[in-house]
Amino acid sequence: MAKYVGAVDSGTTSSRFIIFDERGRIVGQDQKEHRQIYPKPGWVEHDPMEIWRNTGEVIRGALTKSGLKGSDLKAIGITNQRETTVVWDRCTGKPFHNAIVWQCTRTHDICKGLTEEGGQDRFREATGLPVATYFSGPKIRWILDNVPEAKAAAERGDALFGTIETWIIWWLTGGPKGGAHVTDVTNASRTMLMDLKTLSWDEEIMRILGVPMSGLARIVPSSDEGTWGPTSESGPLGARVPVCGAVGDQQAALVGQTCFAPGQAKNTYGTGCFLLMHTGHEPIQSRHGLITTLAYQFSNRKPSYCLEGSIAIAGALVQWLRDNLRMFDSAPEVEALAAKVEDTGGSYIVPAFSGLYAPYWRPDARGVMVGLTRYINRNHIARAVLEATAYQTKDIVEAMNRDSGVELKSLKADGGMVYNELLMQFQSDILNVPVVRPKVAETTCLGAAYAAGIASGFWSGREELYNNWEEDRTWRPDMDEKVRAEKYAGWKKAVERTYGWVE
Ligand code: ADP
Repeated sequence: MAKYVGAVDSGTTSSRFIIFDERGRIVGQDQKEHRQIYPKPGWVEHDPMEIWRNTGEVIRGALTKSGLKGSDLKAIGITNQRETTVVWDRCTGKPFHNAIVWQCTRTHDICKGLTEEGGQDRFREATGLPVATYFSGPKIRWILDNVPEAKAAAERGDALFGTIETWIIWWLTGGPKGGAHVTDVTNASRTMLMDLKTLSWDEEIMRILGVPMSGLARIVPSSDEGTWGPTSESGPLGARVPVCGAVGDQQAALVGQTCFAPGQAKNTYGTGCFLLMHTGHEPIQSRHGLITTLAYQFSNRKPSYCLEGSIAIAGALVQWLRDNLRMFDSAPEVEALAAKVEDTGGSYIVPAFSGLYAPYWRPDARGVMVGLTRYINRNHIARAVLEATAYQTKDIVEAMNRDSGVELKSLKADGGMVYNELLMQFQSDILNVPVVRPKVAETTCLGAAYAAGIASGFWSGREELYNNWEEDRTWRPDMDEKVRAEKYAGWKKAVERTYGWVE
């Protein structure tokens, strides 16, 4: 009897495979980082073949470490960095170009043209999204415009488009020998090509963007029993295991945190930072700079929607201190530096490295450090780096409160940065609400496992999942209201300094 469920987490910086038991506890895992390729300022790529190879390695690694076989798994789910786009040859499986990563700004001119023609919100009603370099549709267009072989193959109907879950599922279920070409609703909702209400590709937008239907994947629920086919026996699992869950990473964290009811919200602190609030079965349009997106769809039931505040750079700013400024060797060391000072000495860093995403949507913004004096040292800078994540989250919470008309009462947190105690306390202080971390902080993987486990009958339903959620630690606000207001006013001023840096 298969007693476990596995989840592939194909993230921005690494691939992971985690095996869970019935209680949602981790019984085995493996992880491998992949290369970040920066061909020009603002451009970011990944090698799709490296991602697929690493996926195989971590699957085999986790099985070996836990002493399990592929056939011990009842089902597997996938969660992935969203929006990142691959275009490949259906006959050979060979990508025509590196994957264009969500943070990449190379589609600036395409997006500028679309905005000048019809306004930044021209597709909002249909897709829930503003026109921005973040989303996949313009990335597909860029590859077709810039890679002649991709264009020729698209004309023959031989080019396949996909986000990363599509790419991984295609290989897992057989690759060039007949893999499934599917995308789940949460990932499809990030392409700027899917109609939020009908959950189908929007032909009008496809025409405007010049993206042909022949390359687009079949849109499927996030939790779907068996229609994508099992893994192939010759693949890394060495067995036929049903692939029946696929959820974009941020929505997967929402599921992993068991935010199944309207009004429930979570914030994931990883490379970027993403706050999602469940809003029920109807899409709610934002009036304050958030985006409307799919939360999940379980089988053929009604889909659930959410409002999302997306922040491009959070943990990535810590990586920047580590890799570009070489201030320390590993990300957690930032905390000890920041803890040496009481405050930032009046300085702020706004990491608008890819422009600013929610709630500002300013492609013309670039990063700034402001308020510098001779007094400021590396400790203040380390602190300003951590505080930047908390302030960006505050911007989102303010917008979320206005859009939903209800004040957020507490925030469920997860992701790599939540082990940073200083950040979590400052987050609670600046928001003036408690911040709660669950015991299993690998909520992204857990969400993908839940999607697969529910479809395959491994878990009976949501009640069982609620019971798996356990609190690890809560941080409570402890900051004077006046101090909070002054600090936040300084942040708002700093944000304005980022505008207009690029055309
Ligand atoms: P992703 O899934 O987006 O790849 P993770 O959730 O694994 O990201 O989180 C990794 C990010 O968190 C990195 O950007 C890293 O710089 C940051 N990070 C990890 N640990 C800490 C820490 N203790 N303090 C601050 N930042 C951290």
